Amino acid sequence: MTTQPLKQPRWAKKLSAHARLFGSVDANSDTNCTVIAAHPGDEIVGAGCLISKLANVSVVHVTDGARDLEVAKAAGFEDVASYAKARKQECVDALTLANVSEDRVIEFAARDTLACDCLSELTKQIAHHLQESRAEIVLTHPYEGGHPDHDATALATHAALKLMKLNGFKPPTLFEMALHPGNDDISKVTEFLPGAEGETTTLVLDQHATELKRRMLECLKSQQQSIKSSPLGYERFRLPPEYDFSAPPQEGKLHYENFDWAPRSEEWLARARNAMNDLFSARGARL
Ligand SMILES: [Zn+2]
Repeated sequence: MTTQPLKQPRWAKKLSAHARLFGSVDANSDTNCTVIAAHPGDEIVGAGCLISKLANVSVVHVTDGARDLEVAKAAGFEDVASYAKARKQECVDALTLANVSEDRVIEFAARDTLACDCLSELTKQIAHHLQESRAEIVLTHPYEGGHPDHDATALATHAALKLMKLNGFKPPTLFEMALHPGNDDISKVTEFLPGAEGETTTLVLDQHATELKRRMLECLKSQQQSIKSSPLGYERFRLPPEYDFSAPPQEGKLHYENFDWAPRSEEWLARARNAMNDLFSARGARL
């Protein structure tokens, strides 16, 4: 099914980005939003209900979510490619319930865990997509050291908006969805890490929305272990704080540094600094 944007009342155009994203159905019926998720399924857990309220939304998966053979086998697949394909299809199935058609789901195919290896390319891909889709609002991850791909996606999205501005385009308004890995390295927690300033908007799901979210989560068959403890009743969002991507998001050991599969913070930061130099040097800041 193709999503058909509804005709928007003239008054809705004058509303703030916040009202157009979180307001009544009339206010957000034509809000043009792109959700940029590091892994297939992040958008469902973090923003599935919000997505279902929007008639004009596209979803970008930065990586295919298939880290390695060990993870693929643990999820019941013979190889990495089958696992990646299944994860994409599960998201397509879940997004169909929210009236988002498959052609609005875009894969960027960065390597899972190592999205930080291609930050410059990723930034330009995101900027091109936002420019072509004419997104008014972009929704992505916060920079909080939970997962290196979430941080890479946050950096690339922020950098893409800066790049658009430098090239004379009006960038969309950026919001963040609350989603970070739990301490067990499996579960997904729909909260922002404490410490950052700023107001949080909580979308409280009524009975109908909770049932829809439950059905959307059920579509993520290979992710059931990681989402079984994710709360169903709310989703949280906020405007991003000011970030310095050349410095760690927090003091001390970052969450992802607890795991062997992840890069160390210093390795991630070295790639981030290189990308920012590359993107915003005199010659590089072109789309
Ligand atoms: Zn993720």
